[in-house]
Amino acid sequence: MAVKINYGNKDERKLNFVHKLYFPEIFKGMWFTFKHMFRPSVTLEYPEYKPNLGPEFRGRPVLVAENGKERCVACGLCARVCPPLAISMQAAETDDVKERYPERFEIDMLRCIYCGLCEEVCPEEAIVMSEEYDFVFHNRKDAIFDKQKLMIEKTRLSKRLDWLNVFRNPNFGDVYDHQVQNNKHSVRDRSVR
Ligand code: SF4
Ligand code: SF4
Repeated sequence: MAVKINYGNKDERKLNFVHKLYFPEIFKGMWFTFKHMFRPSVTLEYPEYKPNLGPEFRGRPVLVAENGKERCVACGLCARVCPPLAISMQAAETDDVKERYPERFEIDMLRCIYCGLCEEVCPEEAIVMSEEYDFVFHNRKDAIFDKQKLMIEKTRLSKRLDWLNVFRNPNFGDVYDHQVQNNKHSVRDRSVR
C-alpha cells in the first residue's frame, strides 16, 4: 500500500527567502562556537588530567585491607545481594578472632553494575566503592578480579570510609547508628575506623 505523505502540515514552519539561504544560521552557529573559544574550559584533557572525585563517587568495589589482611568475615551477604551475581567467594576458618575469612573472593567486573549494594549490606565495612573507574580487559578472564586485585589498604580508602560513617543509612538519622545497630556481633575494634 502506498504511504501518503502529508506535505501540507499546518504546523510546518514557513521559510522566507533569508531562511532559505541557510547562511545566516550557519554563521550564527559559528559565532556561538567562536565566543566559547575564549571562555574557561569546562572539560578535562583526560587521561592526562583526571577529575577530582568526591567521596560519594562509586567506582569499582574493593576489599578493605588492614595490615595486608582483608576485613571480610565471609558472611556472604554481599554475594547474596549483588543483583547481577558478580561476587563469588569461598569461606574458610581462621584462628583469628573473626573466625572466618574468604579463602577465595572474586568479582566479575564485566557483571558489576557499580550499584553499591554490596557496600550497603556489609556489616564490617569490608567492601567499599573506590575511586577507580578506568580499567580495561583484553579477555573475559582478566575481568575476574581476585582477592589480591581487590584488596586495598584502608588508609587509601579513608575518604570513602569517613564519608560512609556520616552518610550511610541517612534516613534513620539520629535514631539509627549503623555502626552500633548493624554491627552488634562484630568482633572488630570499632573505635578504629
Ligand atoms: S557494586 Fe553492585 S553489582 Fe557490583 S559487586 Fe557490588 S553489589 Fe554487585
Ligand atoms: S558482606 Fe562484607 S563481610 Fe560479608 S562477605 Fe561481603 S565483604 Fe565480606
